[in-house]
Order: sequence, then C-alpha cells, then structure tokens
Amino acid sequence: MRRTRFEGAARTALIAPLPQATLREALLFDIRSSDSDGDDLIARQRLASLRHVPLLLALTHLMGLAAVVIFVASRGSPMSIATVIGGLALAVASDAGAWVLLRYNDRADLDPKSVALALCALVGTGCAAWTLACHAISLDLATSESGLLTLIVGVGVAAAAIVSVTSPPMLIICGGTFCIASLSFGLDPVLAAAVLVMALLVIAYSTAMTRTVLAESRKRQQLDHDARKALCFVEEFENSGRGWFWETNNQGLLSYVSQQLADDFNCHADQLIGRLLGDLVSIDQAGDELIREERTLGFHLSARFPFSDVVVRAASSADIHWSLSGNPLFDDRGRFLGFRGIGTDLTEQRRSEQEISRLARFDSLTGLPNRAMMHQTLDEALRNAARRQKGCTLFLIDLDRFKNVNDTLGHPVGDALLRQVAQRLVSVMGDHGQIGRLGGDEFKAVLPGTVETGLLESLARTLIEQVSRPYLIEDHRVTIGASVGIAIGDPGRCSADSLVRNADLALYAAKAAGRGRHMFFDASMHSEASDRRVLECDLRQALERGELWVAFQPIVRAASEEVSGFEALVRWNHPTRGLVSPEIFIPIAEECGLIGKIGEFVLNEALAEAAHWPDQVRIAVNLSPIQFNDPAISDIVAAALGQHVVRAERLELEITEGVFLADSDETDQTFARLKALGVRLALDDFGTGYSSLGYLKKAPFDKIKIDQSFVRGAASSSNRNAAIIRAIVTLAESLDMDTTAEGVETHDDLHLIRDLGVSQVQGYIFGRPMVAADARELACSVAAIEADGFQSVREPRQRLMRRAIVAIDGDTIEIRLRNISALGALIESDRPVAPGTTLAIDIVGVGPVIGTVRWAQAGKFGIQFNDPFDLGRMAPRPEKKVEPGVTSAWHVNQGRTSVGR
Ligand code: C2E
Ligand code: MG
Ligand code: MG
Repeated sequence: MRRTRFEGAARTALIAPLPQATLREALLFDIRSSDSDGDDLIARQRLASLRHVPLLLALTHLMGLAAVVIFVASRGSPMSIATVIGGLALAVASDAGAWVLLRYNDRADLDPKSVALALCALVGTGCAAWTLACHAISLDLATSESGLLTLIVGVGVAAAAIVSVTSPPMLIICGGTFCIASLSFGLDPVLAAAVLVMALLVIAYSTAMTRTVLAESRKRQQLDHDARKALCFVEEFENSGRGWFWETNNQGLLSYVSQQLADDFNCHADQLIGRLLGDLVSIDQAGDELIREERTLGFHLSARFPFSDVVVRAASSADIHWSLSGNPLFDDRGRFLGFRGIGTDLTEQRRSEQEISRLARFDSLTGLPNRAMMHQTLDEALRNAARRQKGCTLFLIDLDRFKNVNDTLGHPVGDALLRQVAQRLVSVMGDHGQIGRLGGDEFKAVLPGTVETGLLESLARTLIEQVSRPYLIEDHRVTIGASVGIAIGDPGRCSADSLVRNADLALYAAKAAGRGRHMFFDASMHSEASDRRVLECDLRQALERGELWVAFQPIVRAASEEVSGFEALVRWNHPTRGLVSPEIFIPIAEECGLIGKIGEFVLNEALAEAAHWPDQVRIAVNLSPIQFNDPAISDIVAAALGQHVVRAERLELEITEGVFLADSDETDQTFARLKALGVRLALDDFGTGYSSLGYLKKAPFDKIKIDQSFVRGAASSSNRNAAIIRAIVTLAESLDMDTTAEGVETHDDLHLIRDLGVSQVQGYIFGRPMVAADARELACSVAAIEADGFQSVREPRQRLMRRAIVAIDGDTIEIRLRNISALGALIESDRPVAPGTTLAIDIVGVGPVIGTVRWAQAGKFGIQFNDPFDLGRMAPRPEKKVEPGVTSAWHVNQGRTSVGR
C-alpha cells in the first residue's frame, strides 16, 4: 500500500521523543525572553491560565481582612486596626493591579515576560502587605494567642501557594516573602522551618509540574504543526486534481470523501457519505479488463485486504476512470474500523494513452494511417486474401518534385501540400482501398481483393491526374506530380515485405521512365534495381577515378551556319559498362546528392576549355534544379569564371523549367544574383515541363531552347510541331530572347527551322557531342560548319535485304531494298537516279509499290511511297529486341538516325 507523505510526517512526529525542559528553564520560563514562537505561545497560554489568580488572592485577602477586622475590633486596638486595614488594602490593591494587568494583556497582547515580571512584583507586594498586616497584629497579641497568627500566616501561605503553583517564579516570590517575614517577625523557629520546608516543597512541585507542562505543550505544538502540515498536504493534493481521499466505516459505508470525488457525480461530498464504496463503481459498460479489476476491488474490500492501483470505472454518466488504493484500519484490539485510501482520476491519462496509441498508428500531419499501421493493414489484407483465395494489390505512390517545394517554399507550405494531396488520394481511392502515408512524400494504398489490371490502371491514372492538378497554398500556385508502383500479390503466396519490395521496384521503374506515370511490377525489375544500386556506388567513385569527362556539341547560327558556341555535356566512361548516358546517371547523381560535385566539375572543365576558344564562342553548361537551388550557386559560378578568366557573357547556364516548380523569392533572388554576374541564362528543354508560362515574364532568360520532341520530324506533315515552333519563336522574339532548336538531325527539319526564324540550331546535323580537342579545332576554324544529315525523319523501319525490280530510264534493273517503312525505303542501286523521279518498284515475293525518289547518293537512294505501304505484306520478321541493362537507352539515343539523303 502506498503511504502518503503526510501520513508519514504525522507518524514521525508521534514517534520522535521530545526534549524535556531543564530545571533552570522550568524555573525561569515565565520571566525570560522566549527563544521561539512556540515558547512565546506557551508563555502566553500560561499567563492566560493565571487570569483568575488575582481574584482568588483578593478574595483570600478580603476574607483575611474581614476576619482580622472582626478579631481586632473585639480587642479594641485602633492603631492595629489602621495598620492591618492599610496592609490588607495594599494587598487587595496589588491584587486588583494584577487583575487589571492581566485583563489589559488580553487585549494589548503585551510581552509575556514583562507581564509575568509585573505579576510577580504585584503578587510579591500583596504578600509583603499581607505579612506586614500580620506583623502589626502580632504586636498586639499575647503569646498565648500566637496560634492565631500561625493560622493567619498559614492561610496566606496556602492561598499564595495554591494560586501561584503553576508559576515557579511567582511561587518563589511568595514563598521568599513569607519566609523572610516569618524569620523577621520572630516566628517560632520550628514554625518558620516548617514554612520554609513547605515553601521549598511547593516550589519543587511547581517546577516539576512546569517541566511536564512545558514538555507536553511543546509536544502538542509539534503535533499541531504536523497536523496543520498534513492538512495542507491533503488540501493541496485534493486541489491538484491528481487524487482524492476516501474512508469507509466498518460496514463499508463511506465516512469521508474528498469533494473532488463528489465532483465526478456532480454532487456535494456530504451526499456520498453513508453510501457503499462499491456503489460508486460501475461494471456495466466496462471492458473485460475492467470487470476483472472491479472484482479484485470487491474481493479486497470484503476480505479486508489492502489493495493498490485497482482501475475502475465511475458509475457516473461521464466516461471516468479511477485508480483506487486502500488500507484496512484496525484498532489496538484488532477490531476492523473500515478502509482509508486514495483515488486518482485516470480519465486524462487514459485519454492521452489512447491519443498516444492513435499517434502511433496514424500520421499526425495528414491523419492517414502511418507506416506501421499500413504494414499491419497489408498483413491482415494478405491473410484475409489467402483465406478467401483472392489477391491483394499494393500501390506505392511517390510525389514528384515535392522536395523542391519543401526546399524552396518551406516546410509549412510542404505540409499544407501533403494534407491536400492526402485528401485527393483518399477521395480517388474511395472504397477500393486504404490509403496511408509512409513519411515524407511517400504514400501507400492497400487494395484487398482488387487485382483486375484494368481497374487498377484506371485508379492509378486517376490518382496521378488528381495529384498533378495545381494546388493553391498561401498564394503560391504549386504543381507537383506523382508516380505509382503497383504490385499484385497472389493469394497465400506472397508476404507483405516482398509485396512492398516489388511495389517499390515498380515505383522506381515508373520514376525512371520519366515520372508522372504508373508501372506494374515485373520480375525483371529485381535485376534492374540491383543494377542501379551498383551504378550508384560506381558513380560515387567515378569523379575520383577520372571516369567523367566533358563532351562539347556545337551550337550553330541558323542563318550563317557559323559556330556560335558549344554545349558542355558530361560523359561517363564506366570501366565495365562503357559509356553511360547522362540521362541515366544524372538523375542518380541528383538523388544521391552527387550532382553538386559533378556540376562543378563540368563547369570548371567547360570554362577551362572555353578559355582556349575565340572570345565570341560561347559555352553552355547545364544546371540541375538542385544545383540552382543551392544558395552558393552564384558564388560557385563567379569563382569558376574568375579562375579560368572567361568573360561572364560567354557562359550560358541552361536551366530547365523544373526550377519554377516552387516559384519563390529565393528562386527570384538566385536569378538576380546570376544575372548580376553577367552570365546568360537559357531555358532548356522548353515545352516539356510545366504548363505555366508565367515565369517567362519575370525570369531573365536570354534564350529558349526548343525541346527535341518538337524539333525532330517537325517537317513532316503528320504532326503540328511546326506550328508549335512558330509560336515559341514568336513568343521568344516578343520577349527579346534567342531561340535554339535542339535535336535537328535532318535537312528537312533544318530548312523548316530556319524558315520559322529560329536563331540557332543544335543537333547531329551540325555535329555530335565531341571531345575537347575536336571542339577546340572547330571553334578556332573560321569556316561555316556544313550541315551533314539525312533528308527527313523516317518512320519505324525494318532492316532487310530484299531484291526488287524497277524500270529506270526505260531499263529494267535489279535493285536491293536495305530497309523499309510504311512511308519509304532505302534502296541500293548501281544506276544513278535523280531526286523527284517517280518509280514503280516490284518487290520480289511482295508485289509492286510506287514512290518518289527524295534523295540520291552514289550507290543508294531514298524513296518515299505515294501511299502508305502495309508492312504486313513483307515476310514476318523476329521482333526487335532492346538490349537489356542501363546502357540500352544510350545506344538507342546514339543510334537514332534517319534514312534517305
Ligand atoms: P540537354 O541539355 O537537352 O542536352 C541535349 C541532349 O540532346 C544531349 O544528350 C545531346 O547529345 C542530345 N542531342 C543533341 N542533338 C541531338 C540530335 O540531333 N539528335 C539526338 N538524338 N540527340 C541530340 P546527352 O548528352 O545524352 O544529355 C542528355 C541530357 O543529360 C541533357 O539534355 C541534360 O539534360 C543532361 N546532361 C548532360 N550533361 C549534363 C551536365 O553536365 N549537367 C547536367 N545537370 N545535366 C546534363
Ligand atoms: Mg542542355
Ligand atoms: Mg535540352
């Protein structure tokens, strides 16, 4: 049983022995200054107990006076009467003075010591006057009458002793006075000795009594003090709301309860007195655990056993829980007196426990289930799926570009964004599944029993669409995207962990495929993932090992075909994989935090090389959004320019629209600082990013680079790219910006681009990215660069070697088809043929097809069919296989080319 602090304190006070007053202390207590407040109080109490002493003395004196007056009057001695009356009157007067003093002290609260001294003096005076009176009488008495004097003195001594017995100093004064008088009046020596002995005995008795009284008074004071302290503790404890006290009698009826307990029943504590403690406890709505606890309480109460921390529910309308502790009370003879104990209110504690358990399961920001809860949900869903022989699907959802928002607009905006995203996800998912947040910008959805790919696909697409809709947060218009990885678990054959791993791989694949899309898990993803991890490790060492280098691709003025500058493009010569595309390793570098180092390396290499070029040739360097958001970027650029002594205007920083995702003051400041350095800024890959053009108004760009996706094949009538390019050029011109068309490969596209007024061209047609030495040679040559490319963009082609017959200039000759698409074919022929010639070709085993020669070179020409050719007419061919592994995209990119010159 827990013992309360005040109980302990009281017990200590009772047990501790109190120091006895010394003899000297007892003798002088009333007339010396008090050492402590306690003694002062005792001194006052003692004075108060003397309140009736003067009255008693006065009464004695008056009675003595009356007796003496009658006696002396009968003897007819006027002189003695006057003396006796005078002495006794003085005695009565001193008694009256003492009485007045004590009455006055009651109101004026004088110093007890001074009052006691004054009292001693008055009592002493009274005794002296009394003695004097007796002495006067004795002079008139005959020796035979000395018995009367003895009686009178005896009465006086007895009266004085009786009234002043409680105060040793007063007693000493009285006793002393009588002794002196006895001796000086020539009292019988035996009688005088008797008076002295009597006085000493009474003084000894009074001193002993005073010692006891002092010890007891001090003890009582100590107890009072402890009791007051204990009461304070009780009051404080009760008022703190942390608990309350209760007590029952031997019949189990409440004999005391704190008001705090009564508050739970909205009544006064008195109204609970006399009720059974058990009546205040409810078992109706309690859970199993509580019912058990309440039984424990009942058992302990009836068995009269102590109990502690028994949790019960109050039998009140509110949901209140208590923890009760109690001790049985027995008297000295072992009779049961009842229980006394404390109770604490657990309601708040239970609420906070529930809140803690809620927080442990739910994400505090979005209110969605958190990672732990989702894992549990998935486990349960899989178990359930196994029982019902149904599958279960897991979505992993990752927000694209969320980090940008958080970094640039701050966490409060990021948090608000996450809340809105959560709402959208929940509303899309509806009853199909449970959405949860795993942390950061990752969400998860468990879809028990849903495995139908059509439905899953449409859900994933809607999720992405909804999340990608713009958000308005604190006046910021924010746009993000989402990628979704989907893994379907077979009933009973997959664990939660493996399903999460699979969905994770699918998510990674979705992100690698360009983000903003969903991807279903495929077994091949496992090897790709481990491949990527290896690549990430290798990339960390690539810089130190010197595996990175910079290639330079010429940018040419469209009108004059002179080199206006070069774009620096980083290259990685992997020791075993060969050349790895920056499109593969730059995102990895961005994710694993290496982009800053790599970017700085490229900047320095590019500027070091540009320092050797003629002054008018510019150098363009790509800046990842992560580099751009580095507050030190302008210092880094300034330092590199200074180190390589390159004029700032020669450096063109290529930035993608990604930096505008989180359009903030910091973005504007970075633009301003870079611009202040004097460098040029180009907007790279224009048209592929975000739909908002608003940023063009304020961002100080010098150039727009039209993305390859608009440029390549723009000359073909099958797309509307030309119109888009025209619009971009008009826009750029009106904003006083240059334009560069990226990815120009064919003459047709080049002509079109030039016609549309694009100021610069970058593409394989003028040169692929080349090593520094070649770039330097090209930069230093004065001649215009010659366009060298195919005529037009081809349709998907099949390589083949097929014989065909054709009539050229009236001669029927045999030709060889090297590749063919729906729109045209590459043909090897020994006979020259002029562009524009229409030919009817008879493909052996297939039949005739008519087309027009678009271009011709020695030994081959390209033909465009007049009508689309059905490739199904050709013999079936094996499917084109894309090389697996990380370098496949690179090969495809490098190998992308055109037919027909
Ligand atoms: P980008 O900045 O748009 O660079 C142009 C890309 O288009 C280069 O690919 C270039 O080789 C390619 N290209 C140029 N003309 C043609 C063409 O006529 N046909 C085809 N098919 N491709 C053409 P690359 O070098 O593979 O770089 C890809 C992307 O990687 C770059 O796109 C850029 O976003 C990024 N990147 C390259 N180097 C760096 C770098 O140093 N830092 C950063 N942050 N990113 C870089
Ligand atoms: Mg670029
Ligand atoms: Mg580009």
